[in-house]
Amino acid sequence: MPKPSGRRRHNAGKNRLSVCSFPNGGFVVLLTMQLKERKSCPLCRSESITLFKPGTIDPQSITSDDFKITDSNYGSLWTFYKCRKCRFVFFNPYVPDEDIVEFYAQLKDEEYGSEAEGRSKNFRTLLNRLKRLTPGNTLLDVGAAGGIFVNLAQTFGYEAEGIEPSEFLCAEATKHYGLSLFNGTVESFQREKPDAQYAVVTLLDIIEHLTDPAGFMQAVDALLAENGLLVIVTPDIDSLAARLMGKRWWHYRIAHINFFNLTSLRFLLDKFGYRIEMKKKYVWNFTLFYLLSRLFPGLKNEDKPETTLQKFLKKVHLKLPLFDSWEIYAKKSKTNKPYNS
Ligand SMILES: [Zn+2]
Repeated sequence: MPKPSGRRRHNAGKNRLSVCSFPNGGFVVLLTMQLKERKSCPLCRSESITLFKPGTIDPQSITSDDFKITDSNYGSLWTFYKCRKCRFVFFNPYVPDEDIVEFYAQLKDEEYGSEAEGRSKNFRTLLNRLKRLTPGNTLLDVGAAGGIFVNLAQTFGYEAEGIEPSEFLCAEATKHYGLSLFNGTVESFQREKPDAQYAVVTLLDIIEHLTDPAGFMQAVDALLAENGLLVIVTPDIDSLAARLMGKRWWHYRIAHINFFNLTSLRFLLDKFGYRIEMKKKYVWNFTLFYLLSRLFPGLKNEDKPETTLQKFLKKVHLKLPLFDSWEIYAKKSKTNKPYNS
């Protein structure tokens, strides 16, 4: 990425955003990070926390582009701490959630839709499992991105809706699927629709992006009907891939600011009275182009017409059984006994 040639304050005050202009005429939104230190685990509040991995990034150079779903700067690490009690791994120092949400509101990810087919395959498997467990047909997808999942869920017979903070991605969902996603956060959705309740709420690769997953879960919980089903997909910090690849693990990227394993996921679910009905390891479907362009970003060549090689690589579909993400189906019930009591 070229270095910015100038920066001007934009929307000064609460949002602390800067717009950087680049020599090639493009611009990205840069946030002046207000980093804060934690003395305890944000999930269980235990003060028994320890350094897990030292960071490799400069928080002051982060832009909205770094939060793209298709970002390929793998190995970009915040400084991570681990809780000895609930095993939650979290970035420390941290950026408050309101600043993180601002990043997503500004997010533009032109590349996201290009892997619609691969993503649809991932989601189809998930929807087939969900169909067997589901207690009803109303579904809310939180962090719906370009609407691929919401659209597919509708073809499976769900009355599916989505919440997405990025205005750009909401427009993509309208353009490609005729969907009108709610442009905002779970909290702003609730304020607008205080009585809304769904049989299914899906959080697909969302909770690893949030500074305060427990606070977020509280808002999500209010939207899920009693006996409803919560679906969570999130990277597994204890997976073999994570252990073998170390800092090169592909889930280490700027947008991923915390990590779960099964213990911390259970802790989170238990806190709100959810019982795991089924758990699976997520299998990724990608094209060869997507995979190679992660490793060799030059392959993308975004400003030029598509080459024969690019066309070919986009036709080769791969199934990657990395088993490094959890896919959890958990039922909400007031009668559930707390796991950690
Ligand atoms: Zn903890």
